[in-house]
Amino acid sequence: MECLIPPVLMSRFFALFTLLIPLLAVADPAEISGARLWIAPDQTQLVIDANAPLEHKIFPVTAPDRLIIDIPDARVTGKLPLAEPADLLVKGVRSGVLDKGQLRIVIDLKQAVRAKSFVLEPNERYGHRLVVDMAPKTDKPRAGNAATGSKPDASGRQGPRDLIIAIDPGHGGEDPGAIGAGGTLEKDVTLAIGRKLANLVNREVGMRALLVRDGDYYLSLNKRIELSLQQDADLFVSIHADAFVDQGASGSSVFILASDGATSRQADWLAERENSADRIGGVDLTDKTQALSKTLWEMAQRGTLEHSKLAATAVLNNLRKVGAVHHAQVQKAGFAVLKVPTIPSLLVETAFISNPDEEKHLTSAEYQAKMAGALLSGIKAYFATYPPPDTRWAKKGGGQGPKKGASAADSASAGRQHVISKGDTLERIAQQYAISLSALRSANAVEDSKLRIGEVLIIPEG
Ligand SMILES: [Zn+2]
Repeated sequence: MECLIPPVLMSRFFALFTLLIPLLAVADPAEISGARLWIAPDQTQLVIDANAPLEHKIFPVTAPDRLIIDIPDARVTGKLPLAEPADLLVKGVRSGVLDKGQLRIVIDLKQAVRAKSFVLEPNERYGHRLVVDMAPKTDKPRAGNAATGSKPDASGRQGPRDLIIAIDPGHGGEDPGAIGAGGTLEKDVTLAIGRKLANLVNREVGMRALLVRDGDYYLSLNKRIELSLQQDADLFVSIHADAFVDQGASGSSVFILASDGATSRQADWLAERENSADRIGGVDLTDKTQALSKTLWEMAQRGTLEHSKLAATAVLNNLRKVGAVHHAQVQKAGFAVLKVPTIPSLLVETAFISNPDEEKHLTSAEYQAKMAGALLSGIKAYFATYPPPDTRWAKKGGGQGPKKGASAADSASAGRQHVISKGDTLERIAQQYAISLSALRSANAVEDSKLRIGEVLIIPEG
């Protein structure tokens, strides 16, 4: 039979029809373009990338242990990740299609897990995501890399304990932190500096490092605090390298928790950015103001904030050796990771990853080592003046330091501060407190040419 539609019109008809197909299909199946696994020492996170928010149902199945994720109307267009041998929880990830186009993703497990799932909105790096957090059902304490309590010394006797320094490399895993113009990720830089600092700390007599994150995985801010509390850390140092809207911003800053509002709008802005890291864990921080005020009250009671300030000042003074500091004074803002009632805590923004020159520095091993060295000097300067009494540092000289958490004002005899005023020189300050010039220099790592009015120096014991 002859075709009734002329060939030209026929091709137009098809073209029109092809155009109409996407419009007529009311709901395209969501496309899953890929997924990745982040492996932490005691949990694994599966992140699934999609072009739309994924409605889903998740449930466990036993014998053998699996997690099932059912997603109506979706298809996998990319690759699912292979499990790594080091992963204690996940054996593999696979997918299949059930009736009516329902997608089923199966996570084959090495042991039964507790799991939670949630969706994440697109950010500057990724699109829509479905996240599944898995932890072992039996909660074994994580094998820490720091020892606590009194340990036998070489002769087998119980001796004074080591100082425990909790080193917290910011971000990790699904949370890259800030991203430099050259593609440098904050999470990689913070880990590199953190590991270098941990090595330096472990080389010191009477000091041990607890590296809170030692790999590329996500850790909630609470988990970071919890690990430090479990190991009874004497100091908590969180390491960051943030971005700022102004590309010219440069230099290091040291922050402590604000008890009465942030020092500046920039400090406020930074704290908000750092706190938003917790969204990766599906946790909303916004309804936690009550918990915060209780924590602040506890911290004030124990003098933790005062000690945070003293330690932060010592660290800031030493950072001047590495390069410019962004703020001459310790800054304050509402960083969630600093809310540890019993451990003096500080957060170091080592440099601005958003500044192209500083981004280059941050990726250099030499600069990272210098930064780690300056942080160590600051930490040592603080503990030389305020050693907790049951530690080797208290026995080393430097006087009987205050108990961790004792008020700085209570312990004026153990350590003093001097606020620099006009006409001050290091020699004059040393004379005033009857201490040697070299002791003053080493406690603060500062030269006469760098003294600034209003800065606080730590005055070591004579
Ligand atoms: Zn950060």
